[in-house]
Amino acid sequence: MNTNRWSNRLVESAPKKCVLCSSPNREPLIKKDNWTVYRCTECGLGVLDPRPSEEEIDRLYHEQYFSEQYNDGIGIDSPHFRKVLRNEDHRTRFIRSAKQSGRLLDIGCGYGYFAAACREMGYDVQGIDVSDWAAKHAIQHLGIHVNIGKIDAIQLQAHSFDVITMWHFLEHVPDLHLVLRKAKTWLKKDGILVIDVPNYDSTDAQHERDAWVGWQLPYHFWHFNPVSLNRLLDQHGFTIKKKDYHSEVIKKKIKRIPIAGLFARIIAKLYSGTSVAVIAKQTNIA
Ligand SMILES: [Zn+2]
Repeated sequence: MNTNRWSNRLVESAPKKCVLCSSPNREPLIKKDNWTVYRCTECGLGVLDPRPSEEEIDRLYHEQYFSEQYNDGIGIDSPHFRKVLRNEDHRTRFIRSAKQSGRLLDIGCGYGYFAAACREMGYDVQGIDVSDWAAKHAIQHLGIHVNIGKIDAIQLQAHSFDVITMWHFLEHVPDLHLVLRKAKTWLKKDGILVIDVPNYDSTDAQHERDAWVGWQLPYHFWHFNPVSLNRLLDQHGFTIKKKDYHSEVIKKKIKRIPIAGLFARIIAKLYSGTSVAVIAKQTNIA
């Protein structure tokens, strides 16, 4: 991102005490492009401080974000649409391992590809996204029902979803606890919560250091490792039932080796990758 945009400092302070463990003790984790992420020395949660202000967030997620981060949206009638759906295969398989059908809410649904892939598998899907630009694509070109707006302003029926997913969403929000409270309200008692976030402690992050794709400053306000993600879920009464990750760095290396290359993805699963995905259930129900 061009840092000149930030010369008038449209920023605000992040909470000075850790939002997970209340510790005031922190140390710099990374400094990049005039932004600093601090790591809580107690629980490991990383926090961007300062961070873009509330008004600036609204501007961040309009057309510019999606056109910078992704290609233009692809519609159902495009020859590339099947490929786009296939790219979601590992995610849909992960969910089906825990919940085979039902009502699914994808929070931060973007262009709606994951929701569309789940609909093909028989789930009754809808999404939430703050970007009216992205949501309009999902609505108009894919026919996905999307609730447009910030999550705190969205009202949905309590305990009405079997599956709630957040793929690379949680690291973007100003208030982690508000999101977890909302998700818990909307989820059925025996529903599953699926969260995927970048893992700064991963093999890939440590291999690539400053160049690691998971930093994405200033879009990512929070930086998780498996311990801090577990702690957040535990505070909201969730227990992690399943984890999924693999190292892209390791996979690429192994793929070059004859025979071993055939098992690259399996071997790469022994190493933590850019992100960690978890399936969690309510602790008292599970
Ligand atoms: Zn902490």
